[in-house]
Amino acid sequence: MGDDTLFRSLDLIQSGDLVRYHGSITRAHGLYIALPCSCSACWHLYEFAPGDTRYALVDPWGELPGPRCVRRASITRSTSCS
Ligand SMILES: [Zn+2]
Repeated sequence: MGDDTLFRSLDLIQSGDLVRYHGSITRAHGLYIALPCSCSACWHLYEFAPGDTRYALVDPWGELPGPRCVRRASITRSTSCS
């Protein structure tokens, strides 16, 4: 609680944005396409805390499934392609 408010105000991540993952799954660190996570757990979470969006990360090259249910604080929008 609390921390996400700080991160959320910095910059918004929209569906399809290229992001860098730097969360707890260190072997999964890297660049991904961010999509809203649509699993049932995140769907229920969203009902209670609409601002606490979770993301499903997709490998831009489509070779590996990325982390899911990723917190906003675990990703940063990449500026390399802007
Ligand atoms: Zn999820």
